Amino acid sequence: MQQTYEQHFYDVVIVGSGLAGQRAALEVAPFARTAVISKVYPTRSHSGAAQGGIAAALGNVDEDTWQQHHFDTVKGSDYLADQDAAEIMVRDAAQVVIELEHMGTPFSRLPDGRIAQRNFGGHKYKRACYSADLTGHVMLHTLYEQCLKYGTKFYNEFFVTRLFMKEGRCIGLSAVNLADGKLHSFFAKAVLIATGGGGRAFSITATAHATTGDGFALAYRAGIPLEDMEFMQFHPTGLYKLGILVTEGARGEGGYLINGKGERFMEKYAPGMMELAPRDITSRSEQTEINEGRGIDGKDYIYLDLRHLGKEKILERLPQIHDLVFKSLGVDCIKEPIPIQPTAHYTMGGIPANLDGQVTIDSENTIVPGLFSAGETSCISVHGANRLGCNSLLDAVCFGRRAGKAMAKYITGASMPDIDEEQIKVSVKELDEFKSRKGEEKVASLREQLQKGMMVRCGIFRDSEKLSAQLADIRKLRGRFQNIGLEDSTSNYNFELMEALECSWLFDFSEAMVLGALKREESRGAHSRTDFPKRDDEKFLKHTLIYKTDGEPRVEYKPVVITAFQPQERKY
Ligand SMILES: Cc1cc2nc3c(=O)[nH]c(=O)nc-3n(C[C@H](O)[C@H](O)[C@H](O)COP(=O)(O)OP(=O)(O)OC[C@H]3O[C@@H](n4cnc5c(N)ncnc54)[C@H](O)[C@@H]3O)c2cc1C
Repeated sequence: MQQTYEQHFYDVVIVGSGLAGQRAALEVAPFARTAVISKVYPTRSHSGAAQGGIAAALGNVDEDTWQQHHFDTVKGSDYLADQDAAEIMVRDAAQVVIELEHMGTPFSRLPDGRIAQRNFGGHKYKRACYSADLTGHVMLHTLYEQCLKYGTKFYNEFFVTRLFMKEGRCIGLSAVNLADGKLHSFFAKAVLIATGGGGRAFSITATAHATTGDGFALAYRAGIPLEDMEFMQFHPTGLYKLGILVTEGARGEGGYLINGKGERFMEKYAPGMMELAPRDITSRSEQTEINEGRGIDGKDYIYLDLRHLGKEKILERLPQIHDLVFKSLGVDCIKEPIPIQPTAHYTMGGIPANLDGQVTIDSENTIVPGLFSAGETSCISVHGANRLGCNSLLDAVCFGRRAGKAMAKYITGASMPDIDEEQIKVSVKELDEFKSRKGEEKVASLREQLQKGMMVRCGIFRDSEKLSAQLADIRKLRGRFQNIGLEDSTSNYNFELMEALECSWLFDFSEAMVLGALKREESRGAHSRTDFPKRDDEKFLKHTLIYKTDGEPRVEYKPVVITAFQPQERKY
């Protein structure tokens, strides 16, 4: 099948129009020809679903400091975060939030007019700046307006299929225009990957349908390692069976977690912080209650109870949640408790990048020229083994902004790559081959088997047996995937093709995650091994790097940057 294609040339090409991608674009677009490519319409990026807030030690409510935010973040990470990176993030936080406010983000207010702040898990003080429970939505819209103002060119509903690498440098990429099926190639001095997470590898997840780990796989296939992939965050409050998120802000406003015996069980696990313990601990506690038969009616869910907050507070601070819970489950949370269970939420690991978002390839942090990454796809490692709530929006805008600045500088000294016909040919061939598969297997069925396996064997509690079985299964499923059959041969909006490509990313994403988890024989943050229940700093205070090879992926490690805080036992 003959493909038509167009070629484009930009100084900077950004993949992903979530908060990280757009914040980067805004920094570089005034100085350089900048394109943003997104497989969904920009304001539909998953960032727009963020409800609870963005963390910054503004000290508007409490006596907060960036130093305390730094400590909370490092402790929350179970000491795996790189402390230099975490320090930059928390120090930049106030400015990043104030800039957003000046651009027009309508944050909720205190009576005296300053930005309001609320509690979030693992943070000692009220630190989350929010806009009711629509924080990501308003930030994303504000950034989109600004990007348009500065002339960023958006390629909406374009699906990136491959990175172009030449002699170790990234020179561009290929992308399908979903509207007509044509393959385009983009050449650029700098490419930024900001494609969000991979929550869709799990059957119960709070993440959008488009969160299929694309950027991880694009980089992995281009020879870049993936860092610390074993750390997947399970959020404590997903709607039962649906996984849809109820923001931690609901507990920040005072909501309780209740088991089948009517107890606030967090008293047993984190008496100091109760429901506002970090997510790894809270989700594990819930799962323990469920596993030991203390779910509601002995089943696999528990309750989030907001009734005592009262109608006025619920409707003022959590209006979207009220609406969402009612529409999804028919539960009125003013009068009834909400059935919830842990849900796959956030990918802590990702593409290794330095403090300027430049992608690195080894334990010496050697830079890959022309390639940058920011947001959930990247692992600059500010979250280590467990991210604190509200630190992710901060990570996305803080390091999006830094990567944008760094790219603006980088392109002044970089040459424009030549067209590389060979790369174009390979990407055309690859897509044609994919489209022509006429086997027996169905993508939806393979994906479902992958997701169920990941949930059960690579979920909150893991062990060697389950992980090995899952790794073997991923390989079997991937083998069967070679034999898929695509029925839709149309060019415009061929979602069957898109879903098949997404499923192929999920295999790479999951393989790196399961392998990292299998090799890490300890329990740290969100990675809980029942066969190795203790943290082992001697052997595993280090970052995992997983490289794709033609055979078994290669596993290497790199040291953690420790500056201000020596690892301690983590208690709440
Ligand atoms: C329901 C929910 C609530 C959350 N609430 C909070 C919160 O209150 N506070 C907080 O700090 N964090 C929160 N998070 C986490 C946070 O929202 C995300 O980590 C963050 O927004 C990710 O931003 P991003 O820019 O990295 O990616 P995203 O916003 O996920 O954007 C990814 C972009 O990549 C594009 N893309 C992906 N693959 C391709 C491809 N192959 N080709 C072209 N484009 C592609 C997509 O189109 C999209 O534009 C929440 C997450 C969820 C799921």
